[in-house]
Amino acid sequence: MYSVKCIECGKENSEESYNCECGGLLEVRINLDQVEIDFKLNGKDLSVWKYRSLLPVKIEPISLKEGGTPLYRLERLEKELGIRRIYVKHEGLNPSGSFKDRGMTVGVTKAIEFNRKAVACASTGNTSASMAMYAARAGLKAYVLLPAGKVALGKVAQALMHGAEVIGIKGNFDDALRIIREVCDRLRIYLLNSVNPFRLEGQKTIAYEIVDEIGVPDRVVLPVGNAGNISAIYKGFKEFLELQLIEWLPKMTGIQAERSAPVYKAFIEKKDNIEPVSNPETIATAIRIGNPVNAKKALKAIYESKGLAEIVSDDEIISAQKLLAKNGIGVEPASAASVAGLIKLAKAGMIESDEKVVCITTGNLLKDPETAIKVSGEPKIVEASVEKVMSLM
Ligand SMILES: *Cc1c(COP(=O)(O)O)cnc(C)c1O
Ligand SMILES: [Zn+2]
Repeated sequence: MYSVKCIECGKENSEESYNCECGGLLEVRINLDQVEIDFKLNGKDLSVWKYRSLLPVKIEPISLKEGGTPLYRLERLEKELGIRRIYVKHEGLNPSGSFKDRGMTVGVTKAIEFNRKAVACASTGNTSASMAMYAARAGLKAYVLLPAGKVALGKVAQALMHGAEVIGIKGNFDDALRIIREVCDRLRIYLLNSVNPFRLEGQKTIAYEIVDEIGVPDRVVLPVGNAGNISAIYKGFKEFLELQLIEWLPKMTGIQAERSAPVYKAFIEKKDNIEPVSNPETIATAIRIGNPVNAKKALKAIYESKGLAEIVSDDEIISAQKLLAKNGIGVEPASAASVAGLIKLAKAGMIESDEKVVCITTGNLLKDPETAIKVSGEPKIVEASVEKVMSLM
């Protein structure tokens, strides 16, 4: 039904490995010619598990009803930028508040299949929140490694409340990932970072849901951190193309924060791999990553689909976060990078006026309340009287 293969040498690997002997990234290959599609693309009952026939699991999944996120149109922004259609798929409305849940429902299900008792990840925050939630649901022990002091408050709160063992390290995300990979190898703990190819299988359902609801768009714009999600979404579209459910691929467009932008730099230099950035910084902590493990897959997705990469500043990110908020869509800073990037590209004339564009907003506003208050200002405080209150209105 499926196999796990190296994207470099093509060798088939064990389901339980994260890397080929040759060092290459692994990918799950679904045998598409043997799949019996049992879903209808009718825009109804969207969820990760609607597409179970294309997902590589053998047991009843550990699910918290992830996916089925809303697609909102941004009519005012369409007019302002002169673009035919702009949609936002709000992944912040998943159970733990980010798209990571799509990957975790599959990843944690595989941990059970593989008879593991514990799971672990390094995280900029959302992976840990999601993993802690799904591990709790499954009754597994969860270990989380975070860059101390660099994780948004809401995410740490979730990881702790759902019972993960949370360890802060005096280093950045890239250090945390290097360390947890070795720890997982030594202790036979199941690693649930996006090097884990099963995570990406769950996340590819973002593409399926978009097609299900509005057909294939011309472009998908999303923030890029560890570069798993852009690779996963592209894989979803490619599978639908191979199954002849769609007729073209959208241009995959990855947005990075300007001081955490190795994928952008490789794209500008037309390279197929990155050079790591050693001290990544940005207000968008979810994409504060200097050495994205899935960079090769992401660059392939961008090049093959004739997409783009772009960078945005922290100020542009915050403006886009406020613009989304004013349209009723509450997102965390990293998510707003997608819309910030679209605005920048449109103003530079890089987007055609007849395009149908989908921006992915990856995480919920409540994830990072501290930044939200910092950029919006504190509430005004007055004495408890009608006059005083009215004087402020
Ligand atoms: C994880 C995450 C990203 C980055 O996704 P990658 O797959 O690492 O590129 C972007 N935004 C949010 C909110 C995230 O949690
Ligand atoms: Zn290999």
